[in-house]
Amino acid sequence: MSTLNCHESTRAVRAGLESDQQHGAVVPALHLSSNFTFERLGVPRQYDYTRSGNPTRDTLADALSDLEEGAGASVTCSGMAAITLACQLLNPGDLLLAPHDCYGGTYRLFQTLAARGQFDVVFVNQNDAGALQTAFARGPAMVWIETPSNPLLRIVDIAALSRQAKAVGALVFVDNTFLSPALQKPLQLGADLVVHSTTKYLNGHSDVVGGAVVAKDSALAASIRDWSNCLGLTGAPFDSFLTLRGLRTLGARLRCHEENARCIALLLDGDDRIRAVHYPGLASHEGHALAARQQAGFGGMVSFELDDNQVCVRTFAENLNFFSLAESLGGVESLVCHPSTMTHAALSDEAKRVAGITEGLIRLSVGIECGDDLVADLQQALALSTVNATQARAG
Ligand code: PLP
Repeated sequence: MSTLNCHESTRAVRAGLESDQQHGAVVPALHLSSNFTFERLGVPRQYDYTRSGNPTRDTLADALSDLEEGAGASVTCSGMAAITLACQLLNPGDLLLAPHDCYGGTYRLFQTLAARGQFDVVFVNQNDAGALQTAFARGPAMVWIETPSNPLLRIVDIAALSRQAKAVGALVFVDNTFLSPALQKPLQLGADLVVHSTTKYLNGHSDVVGGAVVAKDSALAASIRDWSNCLGLTGAPFDSFLTLRGLRTLGARLRCHEENARCIALLLDGDDRIRAVHYPGLASHEGHALAARQQAGFGGMVSFELDDNQVCVRTFAENLNFFSLAESLGGVESLVCHPSTMTHAALSDEAKRVAGITEGLIRLSVGIECGDDLVADLQQALALSTVNATQARAG
C-alpha cells in the first residue's frame, strides 16, 4: 500500500519495509558489502562501490528526504560532515551569514575555514533587525539558521529570513537537529537545504554518530551527493541501518520527550533559585509565539541558569541520578551538560559572552524516562546545590 498520503509517523515506521524481493523480509536487509559486482565488463549495476552508493544508506536517505519533504538527501558519517558538505557550496569571496549562537562545532568550522580564505563569515544575532540589515547589505551567498539554537533555544523566523535571503539570491540552510522533521519542516518554510546531526533525535539511542543533508530541489541534492562521494563523507551502512531503526519510533519518542520537558520547564520556572529558564514552550519565552507558529511542538531540550557559583553548578551536575553528565542530546536517556566547559568550550570567552553562554548555564536533554522520576531527581539535586553554594559563600 502506498504511504504517500499518510501521517509522517506512519511513513517513518513504514520506510523501506517489504522492499526485499528475494525473501520477502519485512525489515530491509543490511548491505555491509563495500563493493558490488559488475554484470559484465562495462555494465555496472545500480551500485558499484559503497562510498559512492549503498542500498542501506539509500533507504535511510530516501526516508529522511521523504520526512523533510525534500527532493533528495545525502547521509553522512557525522553532523559535522553534513555541515562540511554545506561549506562546499561556497567559493572564496562568498559571504556566509551565520548565527552568533550556533552549535560550537559549527562555529569553529565556519571560523576556521573562513580564516583559511575558503569563504568569509559574519556571525550575527538573527533576531536583531539592525544587525541583519547590515549583514544582508554585504550580499551574503548563504544564510545559516539554527532554530531552536543550541544551547539557549532562541527561535529564528525561518520564513522571514528565507524571504530576505531570496531577495539577495542567498541559499538558506537550516540545522534542524533540535526538532527533527517531526516538529519542524524548514523546506516548507522557504529554506533550500536542511542539515541534521542524525546522532541526535533521528537515531535517538546515542549509539550512532551520523548526519544528513536534505535538499529541496534535485539539482542541489545531486551537487551535495557528488561532494559527499568526492570528499568521502558518506555514512557507513551499519550506522544507516541503526539510524533507520531509530527513525521508526521518532514520533512516539518526541511526544514523550516533549511531555517530560514541559513538566521540567514548569518546575524550574516556578523555582526562585533559578535565574532564567529557556524553553520555547513557556509563554514567557521570547520566541514562544513564533515557535508555536513555525513548529509542530516545542521539543525536548531545556536550558536554565543557576547561580554561576562553581560549587552550585558542580554539585547540581554531579548529584543527578537520572541525568548523565555528557555531551550530545536527543537520545532516550536524559543528559545534563554545562555548555561553557563542554559543548561550547571551543568558543572564546568573548564569543561566549556575546552568545549569552554563562558559567551558570545548564542544558538538559530530557529523555523518555518516567517524568515523575526526572522531576524528583532535579528537585533533590537543586536542593543540594543551593545548600552547598550557600555554605561555600559563607565559608
Ligand atoms: N548541529 C547541532 C545543532 C549539534 O548540536 C551538533 C552536535 O552536537 C552538530 C550539528 C554536529 O553533529 P555531530 O556531532 O553528529 O557531528
